[in-house]
Amino acid sequence: MDMPVAPPPSDGPEPVLLCRDAATGEHLGEVAIMGPKEVDAAVARARQAQVAWGETSFRERRAVLRDLLRRILADQESIARAACRDSGKTPVDAAMGEVFPVCEKLRYTIASGERDLRPSPRRSGFLLHKSARVEYSPLGVVGVIAPWNFPFHNLLCPLIPALFAGNAVVTKVSELATWSSLGYLGLIREVLRGRGHDPELVQVVTGYGETGQALIRSGVETIFFTGSPENGRRVMATAAESLTPVILELGGKDPMIVCDDASLDQAADAAMLGVFTACGQMCVGAERIYVFDSVYDEFIARVCGRVEALRQGPPLRGEFDVGAMTMPRQIEIIQRLVDDAVAKGARLLTGGKRNEGLPEGSYYEPTILVDVDHRMRITQEEQFGPVMVIVRVQDEEEAITLANDCPYGLGSSIFTRDRRRADRIAARLQTGMAVVNDYGLAYMMQDLPFGGVKISGVGKINGREGLRACCNAKAVVRDRIPVRKGIAVYPVRAATEPLISETIRVIYSRGPVAKVRAAGRAAKALYALARGRKRERR
Ligand code: NAD
Repeated sequence: MDMPVAPPPSDGPEPVLLCRDAATGEHLGEVAIMGPKEVDAAVARARQAQVAWGETSFRERRAVLRDLLRRILADQESIARAACRDSGKTPVDAAMGEVFPVCEKLRYTIASGERDLRPSPRRSGFLLHKSARVEYSPLGVVGVIAPWNFPFHNLLCPLIPALFAGNAVVTKVSELATWSSLGYLGLIREVLRGRGHDPELVQVVTGYGETGQALIRSGVETIFFTGSPENGRRVMATAAESLTPVILELGGKDPMIVCDDASLDQAADAAMLGVFTACGQMCVGAERIYVFDSVYDEFIARVCGRVEALRQGPPLRGEFDVGAMTMPRQIEIIQRLVDDAVAKGARLLTGGKRNEGLPEGSYYEPTILVDVDHRMRITQEEQFGPVMVIVRVQDEEEAITLANDCPYGLGSSIFTRDRRRADRIAARLQTGMAVVNDYGLAYMMQDLPFGGVKISGVGKINGREGLRACCNAKAVVRDRIPVRKGIAVYPVRAATEPLISETIRVIYSRGPVAKVRAAGRAAKALYALARGRKRERR
């Protein structure tokens, strides 16, 4: 994959966005900050390209997605490495969290997209002479506003269903993921070009929040926003001005419940993955681990040594388990939350501060915080860092109560060997996803909808719900048995109202006797109407 070459840092008057390697601070390039004019122009180019694309068959769109999958498989190492540079994560995290889910989304869409978007027949109710169906037509231009944590995934995952549904896509990539995103754009456009399609179908716009606001105001047909709840509110408020629909994928603070009958090895593996993947910078990070009292010490013993042994460093300069924070400011946010917890009685078993041994980039030590309780802010506010937060609970009831005592409601996981207990807990958790005896797998099952409740979001991505959110679900009514006569309600006569009310009784009364009686009265009213009309004609 060709990556943009870095020009030397400029000191000209143009407002530019500086791209840096998150792990080393190395200068990667400069990109223009786009204003409303540039954004509108990008949307116009996309809109023009969509006209022909919207006419393509599912077969042709599948062929494009197959080519894209082939390209990704061939280039996966360089794709992962580009994501590492922008985000500071390790190549293993990039392969697992970026490339893997994108490939699965492509596989799912190629295999099932047409099934999910095929016109779907619906019941026509009492109107037996008509047939009804839903047709999923493209919206036009889909606008996406993406965060920084998984640059490749965040660009590709909304784009795949949007394109498959026949739309053009304009994505405002994160200011912290711009360099890699422009490389990925090149790859996508090459694939489009290779199949004879207009590469302008996919646009990337660059800049900060203002550029995102310009995209919302640009006339796109819908907005998929992924980011923080605060900015989600701003996006929704701006979209309300033009009544542009929004799907909001906001933050998470996922609970993981470890019951007394759980396999502790399995739970410990999941906790390591849920806390330290991408240095904890995941919306579905396992940010709160509730462990039953009787296995509390044993669980901590199983994770403690493993966390202490994690090797941290610049991911592309050696073999490391944990990388850097993407956003330098995040370290201060994490530190404030950890300090608040310690001041209120939580114990630090390891870590708890910036990794000073690594002078370049922003590194926070892999950390374990135990004896946490719900007076501490770290149980309520997203930390987005490599901090394992462990809370002791007495039983199932307390675990559920505390898990739900949080403004977020994205994912969750439950560890128990008892299926009934798992179902019972899953049913009561106020979250969009619940996974039993594993972590985060709901995202890898692309047939499932993904999205949160409470301040974690509005609407769903993934699955048929996500694909259909890129469409106008048009209700179409056609003839089953042609009836060449309309309903002559006007002009209204004395018998018109009885005819309608008796018809309603025929349809909705219970029991044949009531229906037959109403049918008799309706026939009488109909006869009176017909006779009246005949008289008027004479
Ligand atoms: P962010 O909200 O700061 O930014 C997200 C995107 O929105 C960026 O492209 C940014 O430039 C843009 N933006 C910022 N202000 C805007 C505004 N006023 N109007 C329009 N666009 C604006 O989020 P982030 O810091 O990039 O990402 C981290 C957040 O994203 C976390 O809260 C995380 O949990 C969440 N996230 C959620 C999911 C999910 O699927 N639920 C996935 C990944 C990340």
